Amino acid sequence: MVADEYFWLRVKVLEGEAPAPFGDAFAAMRDLRSDLSSDPTAWEDLEVPLGAVHRASELYAAYADLPLSKDVGGKPVALRSKAQRLAKAIEATELKVPLLIENTAGGDNAMARRLDRIAGVWEAISQSDKAGNVGFCLDTCHAWAGGIDLGTAVEQIKAITGRIDLVHANDSRDGFDSGADRHANFGAGQLPPDDFAAVVKAAGSPVVCETPGGVEEHQADLDWLRAHGIG
Ligand SMILES: [Zn+2]
Repeated sequence: MVADEYFWLRVKVLEGEAPAPFGDAFAAMRDLRSDLSSDPTAWEDLEVPLGAVHRASELYAAYADLPLSKDVGGKPVALRSKAQRLAKAIEATELKVPLLIENTAGGDNAMARRLDRIAGVWEAISQSDKAGNVGFCLDTCHAWAGGIDLGTAVEQIKAITGRIDLVHANDSRDGFDSGADRHANFGAGQLPPDDFAAVVKAAGSPVVCETPGGVEEHQADLDWLRAHGIG
């Protein structure tokens, strides 16, 4: 899938006219995000038990031992109720479309920034009977800014997940291992162009561009990909 199809789909979703599987997927993502975004600091606390347990029922039990709330920067953060909602959601969700886990750029305790954390998440997922419907999305900006070597990224990630279902092709405004999630247009950021093109090719998956700007900038990014033998 290329960027213009992706943006078309997003518009159709917002207008309520998207083909059913996409509408379902976007709706599920929106619900999950709105549930979690009100309290993003909770994630850093939740990931510890997630790496240590194998099934949603164990996850639920582990979270039952968490304190009801925790003081984070002077703000009380609800832990147990949010964690239990998450565990219940995993247990109850019937995935109508594949769910892709995407690597992230920042956060020292993020669940999917470093390869060892991704391995922990995958270990938990692989024990689920829904594992076959969970895949991986490699974001090139996040990998670079998150400190994953682009030269070996595909090989190392596939060794953990066995699959890369989608590439989010983005250049990065910031430096290697900076932790900054700022996408840039191709050639305008800090990704070494040859490494960037090589990692997209090696993944061998459909590509979505999430770069800034409008039609003109996106067209230039698509031209850049084609000039590097992709698409
Ligand atoms: Zn992305």
